[in-house]
Amino acid sequence: MTERKEELARALTREEGKILRESRGEVQRSINILEFMAGEGRGLGGETLPSELEYNFCYTIRQPLGVVAVITPWNFPVAIPCWKIAPALVAGNTVVFKPATLTPMTASLVMEMFREAGVPPGCVNMVLGSGGQAGERLVNHPAIRAVSFTGSNEVGSRLYAQGAHRMIKVQCEMGGKNPLVVLEDADLDLAVTATVQGAFGSTGQRCTATSRAVVVDSIADRFSEMVVARARSFKVGDGLDESVDMGPSVDEAQLKTVLRGMEIGRQEGAKLLCGGHRLEGDKYDNGYFLSPTVFDRVHPRMHIAQEEIFGPVLSIQRVGSFEEALEVANDVRFGLASAIFTNDANKIFRFVDEVECGITHVNSGTIGGEAQVPFGGIKATGVGPREQGKTAVDFYSEIKTVYVDYTGRKRQSNLY
Ligand code: NAP
Repeated sequence: MTERKEELARALTREEGKILRESRGEVQRSINILEFMAGEGRGLGGETLPSELEYNFCYTIRQPLGVVAVITPWNFPVAIPCWKIAPALVAGNTVVFKPATLTPMTASLVMEMFREAGVPPGCVNMVLGSGGQAGERLVNHPAIRAVSFTGSNEVGSRLYAQGAHRMIKVQCEMGGKNPLVVLEDADLDLAVTATVQGAFGSTGQRCTATSRAVVVDSIADRFSEMVVARARSFKVGDGLDESVDMGPSVDEAQLKTVLRGMEIGRQEGAKLLCGGHRLEGDKYDNGYFLSPTVFDRVHPRMHIAQEEIFGPVLSIQRVGSFEEALEVANDVRFGLASAIFTNDANKIFRFVDEVECGITHVNSGTIGGEAQVPFGGIKATGVGPREQGKTAVDFYSEIKTVYVDYTGRKRQSNLY
């Protein structure tokens, strides 16, 4: 992958649409994940534990599950397959991988790289096909002992129920509606930069995208002016053009979903500050380009405050205090990423304790992740153990507890 980094990054931009800088970042993250996980193979031990039984040696070993299914979305079509397949292999399983229908080219390149790197035949297998056919078949196949899924909440909750029916392990990482909180003492430049990158980076098609800015009233006018100025300066276009800041929506269906979200925002009475439409004319007519969009005065009960739009749409929610900011931040069914911008230590640590999500950032944006750091969400975002980091192998292995009695004589069994 390191040798073919540029080829893979360009394929990713051509197929999914994110800009080349972001594609290179995704490929580098995949390389980091594979390196990190390969190293974990040397450390997959169990524990030795003291036993209350005399002359007993007690320890645990990790064992593979068998064949596991990996079902992935189109928005990170290189990194997500890597962060599932690598720990599955390292824990001793074989994998059947079903990529998203929209991104077969990058999936095929990743498979080619596993082969070239020497993964034995049959250990990682790819099945191309629609979710409704290939995906369903896979999840319900008796040979499959676990399913690791990333994608929408609708599909994930269905797979989780199907897996429960067969009593197999299912891990689902799903959508988000991630808040970035800005308090009165925040460094506004920093907060605005993080908001804009989080809301419009990857065309808003990230599970960790900043889709809500929760801003205290006293600075909300200044904050929204600065965000709008930055949004208007965004250059939208072909991701292969190195000067472009934001690529297109992945396909026509996604474009329509985002346009519908924008329309609902208008109808609900949120104040549209910029964008809100498809870009048209000349170079835009052959693609699904949208203008970076900012809604202000978004009420917590509005659709655009509650539902993942998965496009370049930011909702600004004005609040009176830190307490209200926390309440609004938590007032969604999802719980993936969050951020707070302030230098008030009391509020930082209260936020860290009380915000309902799997990943939180202090004075940096909601997006990002690293190979060695656990990644995932709570509430309607995630079920099952965290992906990435050292915890990633937990999902792909079972722990066996072993008692070795070396008393060499008959003894009374313990009473518990
Ligand atoms: P999706 O529609 O749920 O699809 C995800 C995968 O599931 C695709 O491979 C899809 O195949 C397959 N699938 C669809 N229906 C299925 C079924 N009935 N049985 C088995 N498999 C089925 O999601 P998406 O639109 O590709 O991805 C966007 C979503 O992913 C967003 O909600 C985003 O937030 C979430 N996401 C979450 C994380 C995270 O870590 N929390 C990371 C990235 C993305 P087809 O492509 O053939 O439909």
